[in-house]
Amino acid sequence: MADSPTIDAVFHNAVIVTMDDAFRVLQDGAVAVAGDRIAAVGPSADVLAAFPCAVQTLDLGGRIVLPGLVNTHVHTSQQLARGIADDVDLMTWLHGRIWPYESHMTEEDSYASTLLCGIELIRSGVTCFAEAGGQFVSEMARAVELLGFRACLTKSTMDCGDGLPPNWSCCSTDDCIQSQKELYEKHHNTADGRIRIWFGLRQIMNATDRLLLETRDIAQKLNTGIHMHIAEIPYENQLILRTKGIDHGTVTYLDKIDFLRSNLLAAHSVWLNVPEIGFFSKAGVKVSHCPASAMRMLGFAPIREMLDSGVCVSLGTDGAPSNNRMSIGGLGGGESIYMVHGPLT
Ligand SMILES: [Zn+2]
Repeated sequence: MADSPTIDAVFHNAVIVTMDDAFRVLQDGAVAVAGDRIAAVGPSADVLAAFPCAVQTLDLGGRIVLPGLVNTHVHTSQQLARGIADDVDLMTWLHGRIWPYESHMTEEDSYASTLLCGIELIRSGVTCFAEAGGQFVSEMARAVELLGFRACLTKSTMDCGDGLPPNWSCCSTDDCIQSQKELYEKHHNTADGRIRIWFGLRQIMNATDRLLLETRDIAQKLNTGIHMHIAEIPYENQLILRTKGIDHGTVTYLDKIDFLRSNLLAAHSVWLNVPEIGFFSKAGVKVSHCPASAMRMLGFAPIREMLDSGVCVSLGTDGAPSNNRMSIGGLGGGESIYMVHGPLT
């Protein structure tokens, strides 16, 4: 570690949770920062000795430093809707409260909502998130660029189904596909590579087979991800069972039409049976488990069984009106926890 005039700060006397290959935890560790990069991590004595000319040297007094958290299911557009849909079932929540709200948003609303959501995410230690899907991705990107996040942004697409607001129900399958391709071309890998554009499918009740399969193919061709709510509530499974002629719910149907792929991030996935967990595992589908909305409205996913089957399960918060806060794991008040993120150089 050679000294360098570009070292802006050394944070020392901290418990450093490195999350490196050996999962080292340094009891009296330090981090040296140069610009927006971590220049060094090591025992305090070593880092302080290596960078005596750092612009700032901060004693963290034994506080914990760990990498930024990744929130894998966030609705940035819903931040302004906190509290508008308490104590109702999911279909009332969606058709009677959230869709009327979302469908009346302006681009400027989306920008403000993403900014406010992002500020709350940062406060709880999140530095990277996966957007579940809103209408104004360019405004999300504008806010994400300003806030410094890494984010996988998606537009929420729907080309069929009951309960859609009038200004959404005219969206054709071609419109849904084309708008996502345009967003990909415009924003993918922008903001120094911090912004990725994924493809978004709201849920199976609002997606034709053609939308599902073309989204699968285009996302695969572009080497990007798909974000979709899957098997959230029993009603969803019952509807699919009744209308698609299969013996269980959404996941059984998605397997039947060969939709499941390893680039699919399935949100919630509460109502899966054992064979369906096997379908996820075999295809390499990833799951975002949102404990707060699970406890509030959806029920709990079979997380233990998924993990035992080799399914990758991550954590998300869902949107503000499903959760009423944006904190993963109750870290919102964690004043003794500092988050540092960025690649080691
Ligand atoms: Zn969601």
